[in-house]
Amino acid sequence: MVTRTQMLKYPFSRYARAVSSSVAHDVGELVKLLDKNENEYIVEHAEARVAAALDKSEITVVKTNDDRDFLIYPTARLIVEAINNSRLREYQAEAESKAVNKFLGKENDEFIIELAEESFGWSVQSMGNITERARLPIPLRSYEFKLRFQNFLEVAPDFHEPVWKLVNRYLDSGWVPVQKSELARLISGKFNQIILRSHIDVPPLPRRLAESIQRIESELGKKIISTGPLEVTEESVDAFPPCISQMHKDTLAGKNLSHSARFALASFLLNIGMSVSEVVDVFRAARDYVSSLAEYQVKHIAGERGGRDAYTPPSCKKLQSDSLCPVYLGEAFDPLCEYISHPLAFYETRAWEMSKGVQDHSWYARKRQRRQHLR
Ligand code: SF4
Repeated sequence: MVTRTQMLKYPFSRYARAVSSSVAHDVGELVKLLDKNENEYIVEHAEARVAAALDKSEITVVKTNDDRDFLIYPTARLIVEAINNSRLREYQAEAESKAVNKFLGKENDEFIIELAEESFGWSVQSMGNITERARLPIPLRSYEFKLRFQNFLEVAPDFHEPVWKLVNRYLDSGWVPVQKSELARLISGKFNQIILRSHIDVPPLPRRLAESIQRIESELGKKIISTGPLEVTEESVDAFPPCISQMHKDTLAGKNLSHSARFALASFLLNIGMSVSEVVDVFRAARDYVSSLAEYQVKHIAGERGGRDAYTPPSCKKLQSDSLCPVYLGEAFDPLCEYISHPLAFYETRAWEMSKGVQDHSWYARKRQRRQHLR
C-alpha cells in the first residue's frame, strides 16, 4: 500500500500533485498561503531544499504528517523560477532527480511500475520473478522490467553512454527490456526534464519568500564565482550586457555615475568574481572618486561591512525604471536582452556562447522563453 510519507519523495507523482493542489490549487493561492505566519516552515524548508541543490548535498524530505509538507517542493520550484537563473534550475533538476533515483532503489517492483504509469503515462511491465526470468533467453534474464520504446526514447537520448542508444538494446515487439536501476534512472531523468522544461509565471511574492530568494541569489552569486568558468578576463568584459557595458565605459572614461548606476555596476562586478580592490580600481577614474569612500561602499555591497550578505545587482526591471537600460531607452540593442530578466543571466549566457564560439543567436527563440519585450 502506498503511504503519504512514501509519496513525499516523488513530487511529480499524481498523488503528490493531488495533495498539493488540494491545499493550494494554483500558484496564486500558494503565494497567499506562504504569506501567513503559520506557514513559515514551508518557506524555510523550501529554501533549505534549494540551498541543498546549490551545495550538491542531499535533498531532505520533510515529514510532519501535515498535507502542507507537499507544498515544500512547489515552493522550492517557485523560488528557483523567481530567480530565473538557468544554472540554478540545472542544480535543482540535478539534485531533485538524484534524490528520486536513490529513493527508487528501495522501492518494490509494483510501486515503480505504478509510479511510472500514473505519473508519466508510461507502459511498463514486469518481466516476472527470478524463477520466471530463468526460463528466458540468457541475455534477457537480468532485466526486471520492459518499457515501451517510445517511453524509453523520451529520456534515454539525454544520457550519453552507448547502452542508452536504442540500437544497442534488445527490442521485442516495441518493448525495451530494462533493469530496475535503469528504470529508476529513466524515471528520475524524466523528472529532471520536467524541472528543466517547465515554467511558472511568478506572481508578486510575499516578503518572506522574497527574503529567501535574496539569500539564495547571494549564495548563487558565490557559487558562480567559485565554480567558474566565468573568470573575469579581458574577454569577459565583452560578455557584459549593454547596461553594465555602458556604465563600465562611462566610469573608465572618468564620468560620474549616479548612485544607482554605481551600485548596479559594483554589485555586478563583485557577483561575477572581481575582488573588492579590482572593483574599487574600476571607479578610480571617475571625477568624484574618493578612495576611502569608494572602498567603504564596495565593501558594503560585497557584504564585508554592515553585517549582511553581499548584494545582488538589480534586475532588468529595476534598471529600466531607473533609466539605466540602454535597450529599453532605444539607445542599444542585443537580442539576448529579450530572453533574460537579469543582467547576470545575460552575462552567464553570453560568456557561455563566447566560450563555445557561438555567434548565431537564433537559438534563443527556439530554446528560451521571451522574458521581456523591448521593441
Ligand atoms: S535588458 Fe537587462 S541586461 Fe539588457 S541592457 Fe537592459 S537591463 Fe541590461
